[in-house]
Amino acid sequence: MLEHDVIIVGGGLAGCRAALEIKQTNPKLDVALIAKTHPLRSHSVAAQGGMAATLKNVDPEDNWEAHAFDTVKGSDYLADQDAVEILTREAPDVVIELEHMGVLFSRLPDGRIAQRAFGGHSHRRTCYAADKTGHAILHELVNNLRHNGVRIYEEWYVMQLILEAGQAKGVVMFHILESQLQVARAKAVMFATGGYGRVYNTTSNDFASTGDGLSMSAVAGVPLQDMEFVQFHPTGLYPVGVLISEAVRGEGAYLINSQGERFMVNYAPKQMELAPRDITSRAITRELRAGRGVNLDGSAGGPFVYLDLRHMGKEKIMSRVPFCWEEAHRLVGIDAVNEPMPVRPTVHYSMGGIPVNTDGQVRSSSEGLIEGFFAAGESACVSVHGANRLGSNSLLECIVYGKRTGAAIARYVEKRQLPDVDEQNYLGAAHRKIQALLNQSGNLRINQLRQAFQDNMTQHCGVFRTEESMREGLNQLQQLQQQYQQIYLDDKGSSWNTELIEALELSNLMVVGEIIITAALNRQESRGAHCREDYPNRDDANFLKHTLAFYSPAGIDLQYRPVSITMFEPKERKY
Ligand SMILES: Cc1cc2nc3c(=O)[nH]c(=O)nc-3n(C[C@H](O)[C@H](O)[C@H](O)COP(=O)(O)OP(=O)(O)OC[C@H]3O[C@@H](n4cnc5c(N)ncnc54)[C@H](O)[C@@H]3O)c2cc1C
Repeated sequence: MLEHDVIIVGGGLAGCRAALEIKQTNPKLDVALIAKTHPLRSHSVAAQGGMAATLKNVDPEDNWEAHAFDTVKGSDYLADQDAVEILTREAPDVVIELEHMGVLFSRLPDGRIAQRAFGGHSHRRTCYAADKTGHAILHELVNNLRHNGVRIYEEWYVMQLILEAGQAKGVVMFHILESQLQVARAKAVMFATGGYGRVYNTTSNDFASTGDGLSMSAVAGVPLQDMEFVQFHPTGLYPVGVLISEAVRGEGAYLINSQGERFMVNYAPKQMELAPRDITSRAITRELRAGRGVNLDGSAGGPFVYLDLRHMGKEKIMSRVPFCWEEAHRLVGIDAVNEPMPVRPTVHYSMGGIPVNTDGQVRSSSEGLIEGFFAAGESACVSVHGANRLGSNSLLECIVYGKRTGAAIARYVEKRQLPDVDEQNYLGAAHRKIQALLNQSGNLRINQLRQAFQDNMTQHCGVFRTEESMREGLNQLQQLQQQYQQIYLDDKGSSWNTELIEALELSNLMVVGEIIITAALNRQESRGAHCREDYPNRDDANFLKHTLAFYSPAGIDLQYRPVSITMFEPKERKY
């Protein structure tokens, strides 16, 4: 059995930042970081637009209180305000720390870190490295892991969280290259496994964003919080769904419908294109429904609207958002200097996740905590984003809470022993699970079932939701889950069997999807990204609370937790 003081699952910004903090706090601790991809291929590397912090380099009158207010308002008042205060107060320091580590942020002419406008933020406070911010930060962090002696297990797929009697003890992991199974135990386990965009058929997320950490936690008995809140980013490139960063609108681009109108004037007259993402995604969807979308031949009634950069000019486009220009050029042959880009909403971010306190320790219920289990980043829900995340607050969350969670783990493991784990029992169960999948003799390809599942989620639990449609979605999902036994694997091999990994991921996607729909059905109000056509208003009297979903194969039990309100009383949200 492998043994480490700390096991971190996930090599994105949250996992790497935590690993670094632990080693810097106590270099003697033996820290392992496990990732199913190479850490540099974590989805964090694709982050484009930037990271919010009130450095005041461009808007001197900005302050952390304004950042906190914007975040809470953006969250439709569901964010925990104690957690938001930490996020926004610590933001300037963590950006400076990254810069001292070597992250190459874009600069103002006087040499200070540049800051741009972003949706829902009242000031220009988003720090960036052109439109490749995640790339710049993740490369520096991964370099530092190696310097600090973190043990990296890359391309190991974690299949199970070992959780017994309220204590996390380790993980079961599978080496993708040679199909080797291992049990690893540790004094503390941290999940930083990222989001679940692949639950839907059109997403900005990478292929590895399959919600494994969420599903493994749920299956082990950990509740998941606020899973009904799924962020649709307004500007996914049509038809592929990859992201065109909000930075493009931050730098001045317009959204235009088939009538040539900047339609955001009808939905958010003050903030226009820089309204928060939930509002802008609904606006685009309403335009499409009203027949004011555009077709590929330019006629009305089509599936996308235009994102128009032309007035920005070539120099600005190429210096501030060169990657977005390149994406549109490479993927759909559009030269954004001269033509508008076709865009529509795409699934982007998970506001919900594994519930944690502000030290990153995982909650077992409204009051309790799980021993030895921590989480941070997109897979966690602390909750700083509530019902709707503001752009550029996620990278910030990964760094602030990755760091805090690392510090908390370093303190925590000092007084802990390595737990007892029955290695053979876990190895045997994992081996049988894999053999069963390899031996299944059904007639369904993984891709067929996954596509049917993703289409079902997209159709029944998308930007707009109703009771009737979600019930239908849940029924269909349960039927699809039964078909899982009928998938057939072509690859029976024991070297680099990615088909097997896809089968394991699909079962995770389905657990996550079931929790999303169930939580969404029960929230009979509209708040942030959760928009119920049958309950169009926010209902603070009944639903100003976090959902906790407890999964079991027999069904999902829902409980609720209060929201921490320390600074700003809920009021109507207008932009
Ligand atoms: C295209 C795009 C652009 C974005 N731009 C911005 C932006 O400009 N600003 C902003 O604030 N936010 C942005 N976001 C959101 C932000 O990038 C993410 O929320 C954040 O980077 C998530 O980091 P993470 O560390 O939580 O997880 P990730 O970076 O997603 O990493 C997850 C890690 O977990 C590992 N993992 C998962 N499952 C397993 C398993 N079963 N076994 C082993 N390892 C596993 C993966 O291999 C990976 O290493 C963007 C997101 C996307 C998709």
